[in-house]
Amino acid sequence: MNKRIKSARQVQQHQSLFHCPICQSFMEVHESKSFICQKGHTFDFTKKGYINLTTRPSKTKYTKELFEARRELMVEQQLFEPLLEKIDAWIQNTVSRQDALTILDTGCGEGSHLARITEKLHNTFTNGVTGVGIDLSKEGIMTAAKNYPETIWAVADLAHSPFRDQSFQLLLNILSPSNYGEFSRLLKNGGYVLKVVPQQNYLTELRDAFFKDTDRASYSNDDTVDLFTRHFQLKDRIRVTYNVDLNPSSMQSLIQMTPLTWSISETDIQAVLDKHSLSSITVDLEILIGIKGHEK
Ligand SMILES: [Zn+2]
Repeated sequence: MNKRIKSARQVQQHQSLFHCPICQSFMEVHESKSFICQKGHTFDFTKKGYINLTTRPSKTKYTKELFEARRELMVEQQLFEPLLEKIDAWIQNTVSRQDALTILDTGCGEGSHLARITEKLHNTFTNGVTGVGIDLSKEGIMTAAKNYPETIWAVADLAHSPFRDQSFQLLLNILSPSNYGEFSRLLKNGGYVLKVVPQQNYLTELRDAFFKDTDRASYSNDDTVDLFTRHFQLKDRIRVTYNVDLNPSSMQSLIQMTPLTWSISETDIQAVLDKHSLSSITVDLEILIGIKGHEK
């Protein structure tokens, strides 16, 4: 079965999760080729195994090469493995196994986090685990669809998301922008949102190497937490802090994918790398876990 047909069939099995991003009407898969709403808005499945459900093209800063490098960092170097283990353990301990589990990763990038999390859950959530990953970056979704064909991947805009109300039990929002109004709409009552935000020492070695002499604003997450708790009941906060040793080429990849250094030229980056022998990096994150209450 080719990738286009496979992705069309996966979406068909779960088409009740979706609605048209233009008119919000119900959508149906036609002939393993197109996803068409009741008013005739048509989106085609691609031969690379994903569907583009955006209504206008958008360019993001990340290229396909950068996503491949990021994936290498996540999968080979296991940069976020301790974080993903914490998320996995929390889900295993908290979420009911009675029903089929639907998980949406809002801003999935190259998809490795969602793929890793759903793969583990398959063993224990025997009534079925459906992972859906969306990102505004076509390059990210292409990389995800290439490597993880068991998951549904869609290019989609979180501001016009192509899903019906209360479709998901779990939302993942890992180091990517939020849209709390949409999160609230998409979650089932009693569903959870897991938002991962950077903490004070996140990539501190890079900050020190590149910005030591400049006056950086002091770091606070109070606003993020405040905003989060206005939309969800805060159920848990889990801090995850650890160090990872990286070889020079992985360090280079990490620097490329970090927005922190985007304003710095490649020559300057190399000069900094030559001066500091960076071999280890601190990952310092917090998982904010919110629950959607029945009254909201
Ligand atoms: Zn429509």
